[in-house]
Amino acid sequence: MDLTFASISEISKAVKSRKISAQEVTAHFQKRISSLDSKLNSFTSLNENAAKEAAAIDARIAQGEDVGPLAGVPFGIKEMLCTKNLKTTAGSKILSNFTPPYDATVVSRLKSSGSIVMGKLNQDEFAMGSSNETSFFGPVKNPWDVTRVPGGSSGGSAAAQAARLVAGTIGTDTGGSIRQPASFCGIVGVKPTYGRVSRYGIIAFASSLDQAGPMVSSVEDAALTLEVISGHDPMDSTSSQKSVPAWSQNLSADMKGLKVGVIKEYMKDGVDSDTQKTFSDALEALKKMGAEVVEVSVSMTEFAVPIYYLIATSEASSNLARYDGIRYGYRADFPSLSGVELEDFYGKTRGEGFGSEVKRRIMLGTYCLSSGYYDAYYNKAGQVRRMLTEQYLAAFKNCDVILSPVTTSPAFKIGELISDPLTMYLNDIFTTSTNLAGLPGMSVPFGASASGLPIGIQVTANHFDEQRMLNVGYALESVSPVKGSKPHVI
Ligand code: GLN
Repeated sequence: MDLTFASISEISKAVKSRKISAQEVTAHFQKRISSLDSKLNSFTSLNENAAKEAAAIDARIAQGEDVGPLAGVPFGIKEMLCTKNLKTTAGSKILSNFTPPYDATVVSRLKSSGSIVMGKLNQDEFAMGSSNETSFFGPVKNPWDVTRVPGGSSGGSAAAQAARLVAGTIGTDTGGSIRQPASFCGIVGVKPTYGRVSRYGIIAFASSLDQAGPMVSSVEDAALTLEVISGHDPMDSTSSQKSVPAWSQNLSADMKGLKVGVIKEYMKDGVDSDTQKTFSDALEALKKMGAEVVEVSVSMTEFAVPIYYLIATSEASSNLARYDGIRYGYRADFPSLSGVELEDFYGKTRGEGFGSEVKRRIMLGTYCLSSGYYDAYYNKAGQVRRMLTEQYLAAFKNCDVILSPVTTSPAFKIGELISDPLTMYLNDIFTTSTNLAGLPGMSVPFGASASGLPIGIQVTANHFDEQRMLNVGYALESVSPVKGSKPHVI
């Protein structure tokens, strides 16, 4: 077994049958991180206890215990998820010294399935961005071309996975942050249905949109990881009671009779030719496998980006109000607090603690929620969101899944868009509507640009229809023209 490129189930089987120890697996990936990550900057901190935890897994296996489906499988976790005794910063100065006393449910489920948490992964500050350039810990580089961004906000997860510094990673997706970096780095990324995965212990950005999901190297690995992290959690009132199917056991590439929807409003210009070609190649491939392509209309997608940026910033302005320098997090340096006005205290602490993109969003969100503008912006955005969701539900009466590009272009250069927030926001045109409607969506590698940069395809399904989405991803993966290609860095 080539450990670097082994699948999650291969690693776990080998560890369970004691062909290899969890300690050896951990040491192998630790070595990769220490020799390669200086080129990528994907890790923000490492779990010093990983070797000890792997030894504990080995000891339990030696005693005949079943340690779970991820036995000894090394995972990297995005900075948005709380990890007990391991720093959790959201990529921000304001939380740069925060060590949570508890694990997010996603993390505790990974651990109780036998996985080893290797460390934390870089991201845009508070998951706000599409390039990983807003992180307090500096930009992450794309392993396919280190002058380019890995995408964002889960850029560290995507880069670490593409370079195989770990066997699996977890990202979060509020408006595309799993799917867009997955596409830019040539990996599989899944954003589950809203409510499928508990948000407990995940630092809140926009609570009605946030979901965590796997960013891994294959559809099978994604299905297996998703099974582990999904399911009802009494600690998250928005988590669904629905049972979790055994997606990984039921993967099927049989596309006969499947109706693949294409949103007619998407077929406009503004998408680069390599991305366009990848999309038509994917449609052709599915047709060859017996699927039928139908046109559907979701006209409200035209407003997805503006609605998203009104709702996400409004929720963020409220969620981020808690970082006040009093309860926890960064506090500006005051020689003495006596005589300091509360407003000056907050102003200096938050002024120094947040980066400029986060401040821009807090201001935009506060404005949207202010009494004179609430109806015109926040309320209106909520109404259009509802219409968008209804259009999707109507579209899914005529098709089983919807296929689209993930982004308008492959990975752009570091520095290219960072001073142009509007163009950066427009990058989210194909991903935000999925979050607004609460639907599951995934990115699967299916093409490459002329210069060899990866391009993904997005599969979206109806609420809780992850199996069908994963099956289409599985079918595409089986005939993907870029199957097996590897980034330059490894
Ligand atoms: N790029 C989007 C934004 O900047 C999406 C972020 C995300 O999904 N967390 O808000």
